[in-house]
Amino acid sequence: MSRVHNFSAGPAALPEAVLRQAQAELLEWNDQGASVMELSHRGQAFIDMAAEAERDLRELMAIPTEYAVAFLQGGATLIQALLPLNFAASGQAVDYVLTGHWGEKAIDQARPCADVSIAASAEGNGYTKIPARALWRLRDDAAYLHITSNETIHGVEFADTPEASRAPLIADMSSSILSRSLDVSRYGMIYAGAQKNIGPSGIAVAIIHPELLARAGQLRAPILSIGNHLKHDSMLNTPPTFAWYLAGLVFKHLKQLGGVAAIEAINRRKAQRLYAVIDGSNGFYRNRVDPACRSRMNVPFFLANDVLEADFLKHATANGLIGLKGHRVVGGIRASIYNAVTEASVEALAQFMIDFAQRKA
Ligand code: PMP
Repeated sequence: MSRVHNFSAGPAALPEAVLRQAQAELLEWNDQGASVMELSHRGQAFIDMAAEAERDLRELMAIPTEYAVAFLQGGATLIQALLPLNFAASGQAVDYVLTGHWGEKAIDQARPCADVSIAASAEGNGYTKIPARALWRLRDDAAYLHITSNETIHGVEFADTPEASRAPLIADMSSSILSRSLDVSRYGMIYAGAQKNIGPSGIAVAIIHPELLARAGQLRAPILSIGNHLKHDSMLNTPPTFAWYLAGLVFKHLKQLGGVAAIEAINRRKAQRLYAVIDGSNGFYRNRVDPACRSRMNVPFFLANDVLEADFLKHATANGLIGLKGHRVVGGIRASIYNAVTEASVEALAQFMIDFAQRKA
């Protein structure tokens, strides 16, 4: 068996040590004589495991105690639909800063239940930069302000937490959570689907300030109430137990590596390596994003034409480098280099890119 270098955008690479532990525990977990997948979420063993996963996440992100942490199903997309339902009155103003494809999707989910305004948009420049904070048109009556911290497809990332308005800042961190240090207290809410930096798909994480949770929101079924999920410790109905367990293993693994600050230093080096290859290729590889907001997690780039890109992907796969095809919305190539993608994998890709450019230039 040989594992490839995996640059998939999500579901994405998981730490090998975590997969090996899951493999070792697959049949008998935690002295239970059964797999974690085969046990009740109401049993003490699972409840303890879930509580520990939350504690570890709180420690890793230094989440202030007053914030609630929820583990939810339905992915980041369902959370996007829950935002207006839970935190805005029917038809109330909500502001969105649009910096790429996933911001568009967040808006699509909110529109039926709120008065969405695009406070600033980078659509006009093809989502290659983040509109200057001074130019955002924020409304005084907005229930919240939404940003996408890292645009997974366009490779555009906020380098810092933007100054909030009067309204709490809600950030989609699906593809950047746990990749860099940040001050949670600057946010009203942070949410993320798991399948990039947390674990397998099927679970999502939400970190929420109590002021938002105190809001009445709109008429909704109990399953659509985030507060209701929290009241039941995220076990309102049957949770995705295996995904939750695996997320817990990833949190432990990250702690062992030295936490978010340690992984951030590695992530910075990984991204710098790839952008240096792109920028040093004499235009053979091109990344269109303003260097000030280039993503550390998703590195999209283009070659001269489709034929060359197809050739690149074919040879990459033959060399054990997978998941590099750009999203269909933008085409090109994309290397996703989440926490679990090692520096050795990034170096293998960098060398491949240099060799390929030399052969084809
Ligand atoms: N937001 C971002 C930034 C994403 O990258 C994705 C998935 N790639 C989503 C939202 C949608 O996530 P999900 O598939 O978990 O609903």
